[in-house]
Amino acid sequence: MKATVMYAAGDVRVEEVADARLSDPTDALVRITHSCICGSDLWPYRSMGATEDGRRMGHEFVGVIEDVGADVTTVAAGDLVIAPFMWSDGSCDFCREGLHTSCRHGGFWGNEDNGAQAEAVRVPWADGTLVRVGAEPDDALLASLLTLSDVFATGHHAAVSAEVTPGTTVAVVGDGAVGLCGVLAAKRLGADRIIILGRHEDRTAIAREFGATDVVAQRGREAVHRVRDLTGGDGAPSVLECVGTSDSFATAATIARPGGTVGRVGVPQDAKLPHADATFMRNISVRGGVAPVRAYIPQLLPEVLEGRVQPGRVFDSTIGLDEVAEGYRAMNDRETIKPLVRP
Ligand SMILES: [Zn+2]
Repeated sequence: MKATVMYAAGDVRVEEVADARLSDPTDALVRITHSCICGSDLWPYRSMGATEDGRRMGHEFVGVIEDVGADVTTVAAGDLVIAPFMWSDGSCDFCREGLHTSCRHGGFWGNEDNGAQAEAVRVPWADGTLVRVGAEPDDALLASLLTLSDVFATGHHAAVSAEVTPGTTVAVVGDGAVGLCGVLAAKRLGADRIIILGRHEDRTAIAREFGATDVVAQRGREAVHRVRDLTGGDGAPSVLECVGTSDSFATAATIARPGGTVGRVGVPQDAKLPHADATFMRNISVRGGVAPVRAYIPQLLPEVLEGRVQPGRVFDSTIGLDEVAEGYRAMNDRETIKPLVRP
């Protein structure tokens, strides 16, 4: 089968690899119908050191089950399923608490040669990991279902972590797919005013469609002043940090209202959490982290299936698996927000 392998920064190849197959009795084998490239894939794309064996890529997918191991009971061959960006057993104490990202048997796609930018994938702990769609959706709906693998559920985690409540004011740092989905999630949770910080008109247009009321195109200090102006001088009670750099975190901490909350979901690109003073002196709570997507999929799935939210709008291009290297380049150069990959 074909799969995507990254060998070094800027070096992504689609190669013929050994076919995915069942290994443990708790596995499922899934034929991937929809995958995509993630903003977090761009970090290694910019910085990964050269390796001989490379690393399988892709952690978001929707597909159809081809086969299951003997111990799998909740999904079966032929089922259309969504996978979260980590696998989890669904039965340990952390899974039962809804923190599937800390599962005692969990893991990340890409390890064990099972990336999702591929034709097929072996899914560990199929009962705990996969969510059965239970419908036969059209293409547009499938794009939205794919966002439940990561970006929409992660944007939702940012909004939940930032304690977005009905009627509140929210600021969103980041205009990538997660930031845009953060806008949609904040709107869904009843935010009255949603300010997005972003400069790219194609992105902010989608943000407005998703419910953003204000767009702040300035950067750095000017952006902070602008958000303060828009919020009566104090800042926003809920801030979604959807980038993960030192600068974006500084902006998020600074535009939070005293006593407010930053929900952070951007994968940190700095070893230290900066700006301790800014958060300490104004009692800013910092919450969030890696999103326990598996806990959110069942909550969000019905609304996606009914078409009440359309997070699939973040996909502004569709490519074949053979075009994945070009997809990375285009996304990295900001020519596309997020490419959908059809194997
Ligand atoms: Zn678990």
